[in-house]
Amino acid sequence: MKIAVIGAGIVGVTTAYELASDGHEVTVLDAFGSVAEGASFANAGVVAPGYVTPWAAPGMRGKVIKALFAAHSPVRVKLPLSPTELAWATRWWGACKPQLYAANRKRMQQLALYSKERMRQIIEVQGLQIDRADGYTVLLRSRHEQQLMAPGLAVLHELGVKVQQLDADQTRAIEPALNPDTPLFGGLHLPDDEVGNCRQFAQQLRDTSRAMGVQWLHRVQVKRVESAAKGVRLHCAALEGPHSSLDVAPESWVGDAVVICAGVGSAELLKPMGVNLPLVPVWGYSISAPIKEHLHAPRSAVMDERYKVAISRLGLRVRAAGSAELGGAADAMSKPALDTLYKVLNDWFPGAAQTQHAQVWKGGRPMLPEGPPVIGSTGTPNVWINTGHGSSGWALSCGGARVLADQLAGRSPSLDVSGLELSRYLRR
Ligand SMILES: Cc1cc2nc3c(=O)[nH]c(=O)nc-3n(C[C@H](O)[C@H](O)[C@H](O)COP(=O)(O)OP(=O)(O)OC[C@H]3O[C@@H](n4cnc5c(N)ncnc54)[C@H](O)[C@@H]3O)c2cc1C
Repeated sequence: MKIAVIGAGIVGVTTAYELASDGHEVTVLDAFGSVAEGASFANAGVVAPGYVTPWAAPGMRGKVIKALFAAHSPVRVKLPLSPTELAWATRWWGACKPQLYAANRKRMQQLALYSKERMRQIIEVQGLQIDRADGYTVLLRSRHEQQLMAPGLAVLHELGVKVQQLDADQTRAIEPALNPDTPLFGGLHLPDDEVGNCRQFAQQLRDTSRAMGVQWLHRVQVKRVESAAKGVRLHCAALEGPHSSLDVAPESWVGDAVVICAGVGSAELLKPMGVNLPLVPVWGYSISAPIKEHLHAPRSAVMDERYKVAISRLGLRVRAAGSAELGGAADAMSKPALDTLYKVLNDWFPGAAQTQHAQVWKGGRPMLPEGPPVIGSTGTPNVWINTGHGSSGWALSCGGARVLADQLAGRSPSLDVSGLELSRYLRR
């Protein structure tokens, strides 16, 4: 089949790769000049299936309200919220119920476990060389934080995720550069989890899939998707700028099917089809800086449980990432959010990075209120979707892409995908 993929973030890149692997003729269209320039650009890189959970969780409402008034809060709201953001927040509130949370968590974790295996296969089979490190450690600053982890630990055990409960000395033995002056109660170590550079992976998989025949059209905005019984037509506009595909970008692309992997742009494309997808950007930030002294840097990735900041080692760089901000504009940098990243980096790894040379980044997680992404048919003929991966798009990408390719080919995916269908939003 002749298939278009809209979006060249990590989800679009992996989807294009899987479709090409199945023998389809694939064209990817993206508004940016290269792959992984949106939310996939500088994320924390953590691939930890046990920690892939919905943000709509029991107890979260109270935590969020409390956090809004705290210094160095992991959560921020930029008022005024748009009607779409308000509707999203209302839905998120409703999805915090224990039963819904448990079901959504299971769906996401199963997909994440499947995805991790698929990612490893792709790296091995295609010989990709990305900056990565093994193991993931959650840092707990107090006994209270450790107690709050208990219910989550039971779920990890159920899932078969290997997790070690550590005291402070054991945690410091795993990450010897942790600042001895910052009080640490203990940690959780997940030896089978990992951190890897999402953007590098996307760039290398783009090159691999180009060699398989995938065509990449950049600086092309898809304005509208028109579905017909026998195929689809995309109405496009070429955007100016470096690496423009102006010469080759079609004003309209015609083929057999399209997969929408447009991250936070996906909802807009679905609207003319009568689908109102409650998808909003939940903004996050990262700072990436060259390592100044390797002995002072993390070995792999750690997560400060109190401030929800991940600190990752990515080759010769260290990256601190976090913050969840609802509302506000893509280009409005929040100084308090960045201050928190610098604070947590400095708390744990002072002197590790040349922060004067830091690359500062803001990205919009494509977030659905309940947590799980939407993967599969849209119900509109020949229009498919793979989006809404929220805070775990890198960890879920390879598995989700394989699921989509199987569905499109009429095969049953290797895991139960109930609860990931777009139809859950069509019923309302
Ligand atoms: C601070 C931060 C830390 C994170 N840490 C992690 C982590 O540790 N682990 C993890 O798994 N995930 C993490 N994430 C989440 C992860 O980065 C995202 O879930 C993922 O990048 C989403 O990928 P995507 O391909 O759906 O979206 P994007 O990467 O945003 O790609 C969407 C693409 O679609 C294109 N597009 C949109 N509309 C159109 C249109 N109409 N026409 C043409 N092109 C269009 C855009 O140009 C864009 O390139 C983090 C996110 C943030 C912000």
